[in-house]
This record gives sequence, C-alpha cells and structure tokens, in this order.
Amino acid sequence: MTKESILLVEDEVKILRLLEIELEYEGYQLGKATNGVDALEAYLSRQWDLILLDVMLPGMSGIELLRRIRLKDSFIPVILLTAKDSIEDKVSGLDLGANDYITKPFRMEELLARIRAVLRIKQVATSIVVEDEWLYAGDLKVNEKTREVIRQESDIDLTPKEYDLLLYLLKNKRQVLDRDQILEAVWGYDYDGETKIVDVYIRYLRKKVDANYDQTLIHTVRGVGYVLRDAT
Ligand code: CA
Repeated sequence: MTKESILLVEDEVKILRLLEIELEYEGYQLGKATNGVDALEAYLSRQWDLILLDVMLPGMSGIELLRRIRLKDSFIPVILLTAKDSIEDKVSGLDLGANDYITKPFRMEELLARIRAVLRIKQVATSIVVEDEWLYAGDLKVNEKTREVIRQESDIDLTPKEYDLLLYLLKNKRQVLDRDQILEAVWGYDYDGETKIVDVYIRYLRKKVDANYDQTLIHTVRGVGYVLRDAT
C-alpha cells in the first residue's frame, strides 16, 4: 500500500536530511524544499497529504507560506516546525490554520506520532459516509462531509483546528470533557501540560460560534473543562 505523501520544507540541510531518512524509512513519499518560494512551487505542483513546514525560512517565512497555502486550501494538514518555544508563535501559526506544531529540537518518535495523528484525523474526516451528514446542537449544524458550519442560516468560517475541536465537542454533546481529554482527542497526543492551548481555542470558537447568539452552546465547567450543550 502506498503511504501518504509529505512535503518537507526546511532550510537546515542536516535536519532536512534526517527527516528525509526517517520518513522514507517509514514509507512516506517525499518532496522537499529549502525555501518558501520553492516550497510554494512544490506545493502547487501536485497533491500532498501533509506539509511539514519550518517556520524560520530564508525569504518567505513559514508563517507567510502557510497563510498563502490556506488561501488556496483550508484542509491540507500542516505541521509547523518551530525553533521558538513561545506560546504566541504557536498560537499565531495555529490561528493561521496549522494543524499542529513541534518545537525543535524534537524527538523523531514524537514527530512521527504527530504525523500519524494528523493523517489519521484527515482519514477519519474523509472516510465518514452517512445518510445525513449533519450533526446538530440547537440551531447550530455541522456537516462532516463538507465541513460546513452553520448557525441560524449563517455560515461560520473556522480554521481546521477550530473545526476539529467543535466536531469533538459536538460528537460528545452533553459530556463534560476535561482539557487533557480534549488535547488528546483533537491534537492527537499529550501536549505535555500545555492545556492552555485548549482554552485559547475554546475562546476562538466561542467568538465565532456563540458570541453573536442568544443561546450559549459552549459552557465552562469550573475546575473540570468544557461541555457543549443544546437546549436543556
Ligand atoms: Ca529554519
């Protein structure tokens, strides 16, 4: 069985070579680029299943490249490689639609686990075939096939991660979920205590999904986590 294709974007030759060896060994089909311009060209040249994108690139930064990719395609999974360990950088990348990030230096096993997690979510998202693809909560509905999110007839535009989070809350409607649970389900692994990211994303979601409506769907359960509830 042919494995998924990954576009590697990294200017540090050593890291690029290491990634190439490991990912080839895992059976992935690879493409590579060492700067933003080449990466954009490689991205446009064919279909990829995932992009592994270094943030600090000469010329066009990884963040800028990500922004351009997202203008064309909101669904292709992107994992950022970041040298900085600041939550703001990660959040700005995630806000632009990265599915995940990993901080350098990273352990190869961890990177491989994240790649598998992101590709698994992608597969689940594309393999669901149901009669009625809509999931409902009050006047909110989400279509798993088309990824449409609609509340009271208005389209709500979500980033991939916001969408994953909403879908998870929706599929576990009325269940109180703690932050670790949400992290593991939506980000695919344990962020090593960085559950803050869950709060950040809940805030984003609320702004888009709840803020302009009478009925609140996403609720905080103090000391525990979050729950999505429709009319009680
Ligand atoms: Ca770099």
